[in-house]
Amino acid sequence: MTIAPEVPTTLRFLSLEITGRCQLSCPPLCYAKSGPTRNHGSMTEDDWNRVIDEAVTLGVEDVQVIGGEPTLHPAFDRMVQRAVDAGLRVRVYSNLFRIRDEHWRLFEHPSVRLATTYHSPVASEHDEVTGRDGSHKATRANIVEAVRRGIRLKVAVLDGGDHERAERARAEMQALGVHEVHVSDVRAVGNAAGTAMPSTSSLCGRCGDKKAAVLPNGNVSVCEMGRFLTAGSVKDASLTSVLASDRWAEVTASIPRRAGMALCPPDCAPNDDSSCGPDNSGPCGPADDG
Ligand code: SF4
Repeated sequence: MTIAPEVPTTLRFLSLEITGRCQLSCPPLCYAKSGPTRNHGSMTEDDWNRVIDEAVTLGVEDVQVIGGEPTLHPAFDRMVQRAVDAGLRVRVYSNLFRIRDEHWRLFEHPSVRLATTYHSPVASEHDEVTGRDGSHKATRANIVEAVRRGIRLKVAVLDGGDHERAERARAEMQALGVHEVHVSDVRAVGNAAGTAMPSTSSLCGRCGDKKAAVLPNGNVSVCEMGRFLTAGSVKDASLTSVLASDRWAEVTASIPRRAGMALCPPDCAPNDDSSCGPDNSGPCGPADDG
């Protein structure tokens, strides 16, 4: 008889990073070092479906589909639909650069939410961050369209040091009718880390706490921001066994926890402080700011 490995904690939130490809490159800040030359990784559609199904059995209620730009994955629609059909709430984290009609229809499903990132009301400033001319115009137009369609949308504004610009971006989003706008600091992960080694001090302190991320190569990490802390791959093992492994216990124990912190909200996301204020004084700011 095969005995299933025990998972010490219930998983509540799972992030599915289904591709490294993106139309943008965001040279100063992309946590995943995504861009037009990156690919979808080694996970097949069947692999992702297996992970989605297993997430349900593990008690996951919320999944985030992210990249790169997740809508560029050829199986994006089918995977989101599978998660919805399985009873999961799905958040799609998109750059909203190009959205096809079938994607809008998917986003209108009551179990699907949308999130994006916006950098500045000034087009040249936004485009400088994304590394692509015209991205401000495209993303802003799709934010307006999402609001018009009544889609639940969260906008993260990244404060790279110009607080006044970030506040202008926040005010513009609110004036457009976006109800959830969060300003957060850029974390020193991926492109933002430059040549420095990634550090656990850049993390919020809740990574791996009832949440995990599966990367495009199948590696399981404590979250997408903590992508340098991996415990194994779902390419050659079940998610359950990875989460029950000694390595998972090691990597989660290596993250400095902040005193008095509460459970990470399920919608804690890259470059997105959820309930945190711009000074990162809330529960999801980097640990070294606490
Ligand atoms: S930060 Fe987002 S939009 Fe920018 S390159 Fe990375 S995945 Fe693409």
